[in-house]
Amino acid sequence: AATATDRQIAAAEAHSAHNYHPLPVVVATAEGAWMTDVEGRRYLDMLAGYSALNFGHGNPRLIAAAKAQLDRVTLTSRAFHHDRFAAFCAELAELCGMETVLPMNTGAEAVETAIKTARKWGYRVKGVPDGRARIVVAADNFHGRTTTIVSFSTDPEARADFGPYTPGFTIVPYGDLAAVEAAVDDDTVAVLLEPIQGEAGVLVPPPGYLAGVRRLTTERNVLFMADEIQSGLGRTGRTFACEHEDVVPDVYVLGKALGGGVVPVSAVVSSHDVLGVFKPGEHGSTFGGNPLACAVGLEVIAMLRTGEYQERAAELGTHLHRGLAALTGSGVTEVRGRGLWAGVDIDPALGTGREVSERLLARGVLVKDTHGSTIRLAPPLVITKEDLDWSLDQLHSALPR
Ligand code: PLP
Repeated sequence: AATATDRQIAAAEAHSAHNYHPLPVVVATAEGAWMTDVEGRRYLDMLAGYSALNFGHGNPRLIAAAKAQLDRVTLTSRAFHHDRFAAFCAELAELCGMETVLPMNTGAEAVETAIKTARKWGYRVKGVPDGRARIVVAADNFHGRTTTIVSFSTDPEARADFGPYTPGFTIVPYGDLAAVEAAVDDDTVAVLLEPIQGEAGVLVPPPGYLAGVRRLTTERNVLFMADEIQSGLGRTGRTFACEHEDVVPDVYVLGKALGGGVVPVSAVVSSHDVLGVFKPGEHGSTFGGNPLACAVGLEVIAMLRTGEYQERAAELGTHLHRGLAALTGSGVTEVRGRGLWAGVDIDPALGTGREVSERLLARGVLVKDTHGSTIRLAPPLVITKEDLDWSLDQLHSALPR
């Protein structure tokens, strides 16, 4: 007989666009690092909504902040001020060590906002001739799914059939400082990078790369825009992945965990000089900076201000990477990452990333594969050490010897 899971999946297949290929599990509830499906089976969430759930499912502080705001006001639009907006912008700017915040909703919108910021800054401040602005980006990037963003993707799946493409981007190999240097010219307004490439398989650039990009962009009067949508807000053991190289970019692009997995909240954070290029009417979003988003975001910022989540990610991350190192050579060919974040390459002879993900699902661990034989691990930062160890045991036994 068809189970509740089978029925739900069949109905979803029948009535939704197939732009995802989810693992065959139908989640009903979740708490902390654990999710429960419609059959009552429990799973350890080792993906955490692609790092949107850094603080865990149903985090009591975030849920309380959301509930309190639901009873006050949820949306004003930016046609009017509301009483959560100023605090959100001020406190986020302070967390970033910057001055100015432009709130949006999704990551892709924040990246689009950063691109528009860089172009306008290029024309109005740097003096680039109209229509000539260029942005240097990295191969294998993932910055979102809009038509402009997929225009500079190097992933055929993400890009093919979605042209005509937005011009104005120069793609260089990731981690290659000389390539960035060669690509920057007088029309270059920005270098846009993930400080660690997430979707590419958690690729950490070579030491000195981010610092080198910082030096170069300063010298050439080019904005360094760090897409910390996945790497930022605690995941790597620091508030920002750039901090591991003592780098402060000109622009942070934030999303995912900024909304605590409760509401979509993203933002571009920079200086008055840079974000000051926008005048009323030149950019916006109906939902960007709405009261509910700001209330939840404020609680996220308060939680990050204590440093306890970053510390936890650093400590548990060391533990995770030690455990994964022990698997290297027995089914695992390479592990990359920082903090509570890992890209794990499986020996292709033992199965694809998808197959390993399905075996882990059967063992009560939820992960997601990325390209080919890579799985990425990014549990909620609230996961316990015991649960983390248990997930490593499951990974070990899911790899046939
Ligand atoms: N930038 C990075 C680095 C990401 O990892 C993602 C999502 O995975 C995005 C941008 C896009 O975010 P969203 O899916 O919220 O549009």
